Amino acid sequence: MYTFSKFRLSMSLFDVEGVTSFLDKWIELAVANEVQELDFNVEANGVSRYSLPATIFSAKFVTTLKLSGCNLEQSSDTIRFHSLKKLALHRVHIGEQIVHKFISECPSLEDLILSRIGDFKRVCVSHAPKLKTVTIDEYFELESIEIVAPSLQQCTLAYIRKSCVIDMAGCPHLNSLKLRSVDIEILDLISKIPLLEKLIIQNCDEITEFEFSSNRLKDLQILRCYNMDGIVVDAPNLLSFSLECRDVPYCFSINGSSQCSCKLKFLIKLDTEGDILILTWFNIIKEEFLGVAHQVKELSMSINIMTPLDSFSLDEFRNRSPSLPREVENLIIDVWNMRNIPTSKYAALLDCLLWVCFPRILSIELKRSCFPLISIECLELTRRKHLFYLQFFYEMMINRDTKCCNSHIIKCWRHYLKDFKIDCFIPYKDPKPHHVDNLMAELPGLPRRNYLISSRLVFLFTY
Ligand SMILES: [Zn+2]
Repeated sequence: MYTFSKFRLSMSLFDVEGVTSFLDKWIELAVANEVQELDFNVEANGVSRYSLPATIFSAKFVTTLKLSGCNLEQSSDTIRFHSLKKLALHRVHIGEQIVHKFISECPSLEDLILSRIGDFKRVCVSHAPKLKTVTIDEYFELESIEIVAPSLQQCTLAYIRKSCVIDMAGCPHLNSLKLRSVDIEILDLISKIPLLEKLIIQNCDEITEFEFSSNRLKDLQILRCYNMDGIVVDAPNLLSFSLECRDVPYCFSINGSSQCSCKLKFLIKLDTEGDILILTWFNIIKEEFLGVAHQVKELSMSINIMTPLDSFSLDEFRNRSPSLPREVENLIIDVWNMRNIPTSKYAALLDCLLWVCFPRILSIELKRSCFPLISIECLELTRRKHLFYLQFFYEMMINRDTKCCNSHIIKCWRHYLKDFKIDCFIPYKDPKPHHVDNLMAELPGLPRRNYLISSRLVFLFTY
């Protein structure tokens, strides 16, 4: 007889009736083999769903149980998963009572994921002495969540509505919280988590202001909360801050540790008065964000140019922002609809970007303007565009002369750039960067499948 420690089955069916006995046999075989990891995903597209056989309750050696898309009805009084450490239920039809039994009768449980269970009103976690992480993603159905878990450190809540009553007072060691697409009172919840060190707030459109102070908080991420108007954080031990936003918050202040590193991502859409707006954005990013952040590890700008930009210039920007560029570790630029910038304005765009900051690394991305609508023509077009911009910027760097800026105290990047190189590119469908000594010379010899999606230039600026 074969033995195996892991059994994984993933299939999508229209009609489950014809294959039920076959699926039951697989479960029996897995249980008879005393598998430790059982991952069973049966997505039924028709009316009926696959119901797991009672045999599954005898899988007493299983340490990881992942079930997705099926029904689970209890047939025995006791659940004997004594070794179960990880339980993940996704779109499983299961009664509240069985879930609560699972939790209270699996004393080794460390990781619990409940996702899109449906018809679920109440999650009650108790008698889970070893539980370390919990994820509850319930699509606005839940009325209450009560967790009593003395070892719990990490909790993720997604799609929880305001009326849901959340009680995590029984989790004295909770230190990491992720909230995604929730409309709950966030400040009220986090004020009851005294050891909170890591907080992620993502896609929470209901939250408009975030004013928080904490001596323990070390990592804060506010991502894609598109109605956020104000962020005021006083956290002297904060080591890492990430922000991804579409509109500039009216009020922004982060008081973190002196070693706090920041990752900032701005989604900039220029649909009216693009010329004025792009300079306003650059100015705000430079003065309000880079000006208050200690160390900016990553500044990412995704610029969608909907109307032609033809009148902006470095002189105009210089008047608005008469200060030296800020230092940034990594600047990532992703321009959509580059065709709305006439070729004669490419230099002005680069001048303005390098008036905002001096990056050590500049990454030019083109992946999102075309992908994921993939066709060979599209890839080829992207490849040609990317090469064109890259070549343009490369030539500007190589052929820089410093006869400009004579009458100005603060000069443009050309006067401060000591050295640069094209370091690597990232090919489509291959996340590994390809390092090159001289991309321009090596490009003609590259295999055609290596469509570029991102290329990286390394700079050395000295003030
Ligand atoms: Zn100059």
